[in-house]
Amino acid sequence: MQEFEIIVIGGGIAGMSAALTAARLGRSVTIFTGGVPGGELLNIDRIDGIPGYEDAIAGYDLCPIAQEQATNAGAQFIMDEVTAITAGEAGYIVSGPTACATAPALVLAMGAHIAKLGVPGEAEFTGSGVSQCASCDGPLLRGKDVIVAGGGDSGMQEALVLAQHVAKVTIVERGPGLSGQQAYREAVAANPKIEILAGHEIAAIEGGTSVEQVRLRSASGESTLAASGVFAFIGLEPSSTLADGLVERDRSGHVVVDAALRSSARGVCAAGNVRSGSAFRAAGAMGDGATAVLTLDRYLADDAWPTA
Ligand SMILES: Cc1cc2nc3c(=O)[nH]c(=O)nc-3n(C[C@H](O)[C@H](O)[C@H](O)COP(=O)(O)OP(=O)(O)OC[C@H]3O[C@@H](n4cnc5c(N)ncnc54)[C@H](O)[C@@H]3O)c2cc1C
Repeated sequence: MQEFEIIVIGGGIAGMSAALTAARLGRSVTIFTGGVPGGELLNIDRIDGIPGYEDAIAGYDLCPIAQEQATNAGAQFIMDEVTAITAGEAGYIVSGPTACATAPALVLAMGAHIAKLGVPGEAEFTGSGVSQCASCDGPLLRGKDVIVAGGGDSGMQEALVLAQHVAKVTIVERGPGLSGQQAYREAVAANPKIEILAGHEIAAIEGGTSVEQVRLRSASGESTLAASGVFAFIGLEPSSTLADGLVERDRSGHVVVDAALRSSARGVCAAGNVRSGSAFRAAGAMGDGATAVLTLDRYLADDAWPTA
């Protein structure tokens, strides 16, 4: 088993920022990435709102740069998904299918996953019209009509990507209208390929070998809408079950932290979308990774873990 000063769990932008910061401080650090590093950003064509990139940057361009930067600074990358964290006398033992490491300090950066609709047909048609990646599957639906469920930032952003490929995008929103950034609302309103169906939700996804239509529910009853693709962006769920029993989590499952990103467990910080009060923005996750490690750097120096 390898020994480190800091172990980061989660290879999204929060985790990679934490690994980079730790390595630059001269701390020995490893990051368990849970697969190809990059997390949610990896599938995003245009990451908007990062200072310095006026015309946005693609996730698949940004993430390898962040990985290389952290590696060059001295961070060790392990592609394993962590399956267990055990608290021992000398610190925490973190293990996955192929690797095991120990450290007195941890950064939990497991992020969040896009929530499923939880309706009939969703699981059955995943990969045959049901997707949560517009840039991956939009080109496969060229010339077809598709539906995006959810009229928030992610839904609008992905609808704009889909509109570059498909014939028509209908955003189905349960509430009275779109919510989120004005820049996206204006872009959606100006796009002739995008329609908004507010006050409706998807009750079922139907078809033969692939998606053919959705069944909709609204205050005025049930209806159907023909579509070849369904992309759901109705919110995020924290990937925090790994931390169950280790740290306090709030009712939605996010890791509870203080202003310095300390969790309820000594030597454990949380960063990015997995923590309570996250900004749910790439820039916020990057800042979190750095803040968490600076907190742990002080902890490793003075062994103090103040509780609120
Ligand atoms: C469709 C969409 C569009 C978005 N667009 C923008 C945008 O334009 N601008 C912007 O600023 N933000 C955007 N965001 C938000 C942004 O993606 C997130 O805020 C940011 O990626 C969060 O980073 P993170 O590192 O906290 O989590 P994540 O990106 O979720 O990364 C967490 C990583 O941890 C890994 N992991 C989970 N469990 C384990 C485990 N047990 N062991 C090891 N690894 C594990 C996961 O596999 C994942 O790689 C968008 C989000 C979505 C969904």
